[in-house]
Amino acid sequence: MWFDTHCHLDFECFQNDWQTYQHRFEEAKVSRFLVPAIGPSNWLAILDLASDTHRIGLGIHPCFLQPLIDNHTLDNDLERLGALALENRDHISAIGECGLDKRIDTPISTQLSAFSFQIDLAERLELPLVIHSVQQHHNIRESLKGRQRDNLGVVHGFSGNYQQAKMLVDLGLKIGVGGVITWPTAQKTREAIAKLPLDSIVLETDAPDMRISGQQHHPNSPHFIPLIFNHLVELRPESSSIISEKIWENSIYLFSR
Ligand SMILES: [Zn+2]
Repeated sequence: MWFDTHCHLDFECFQNDWQTYQHRFEEAKVSRFLVPAIGPSNWLAILDLASDTHRIGLGIHPCFLQPLIDNHTLDNDLERLGALALENRDHISAIGECGLDKRIDTPISTQLSAFSFQIDLAERLELPLVIHSVQQHHNIRESLKGRQRDNLGVVHGFSGNYQQAKMLVDLGLKIGVGGVITWPTAQKTREAIAKLPLDSIVLETDAPDMRISGQQHHPNSPHFIPLIFNHLVELRPESSSIISEKIWENSIYLFSR
């Protein structure tokens, strides 16, 4: 049994072919999913997906802040997020995805304030954070310093070196391991994942994004989780049964609801 801890199943490619994908997930024994939100445009669709098997997160992704800033609705949207999350507390398993991204034009100060709003919200509702961090691991640490608590959350789609991964794990975060480790060129990230404590690791696809080596001509999908797992086993000293058991436990703990 597998848990894809980060996949965008509300996106059109999955919605338009739901039955086919359900069949693929069953065949691959992927039976649990965490579907994060990207912003106000998909909050209701995400809430519709919530079930025992499809856990969900509500939040605003840093790459989707700009249209809200341009429309002068960001403050209002953050307030709506707070109200919606509170109202649906029993149906959600996380706040996110949220975080920081160096590649985008939105000023880092604006990203930081939206992120810190969501850190406060997660703390208030006792929910883990689903964090998107692109070349911002140091600012993620600064934002979370002194905010440690049980089940703080996960940095999803981790790409970086061992020092960065260790710094995030020391804060109490889990590390979302995805397609990055399937690429031989991602040597630093592969080395980091090889050395981290096993109880800090969960698996994810970030489907439909983040292509997987050998499958780059197919859209990414949760049924590739066993393939990512095989790469993980190659990197780790433990047996595959110990790894799969622990990964399942970590994922259920993270998104226990
Ligand atoms: Zn994502």
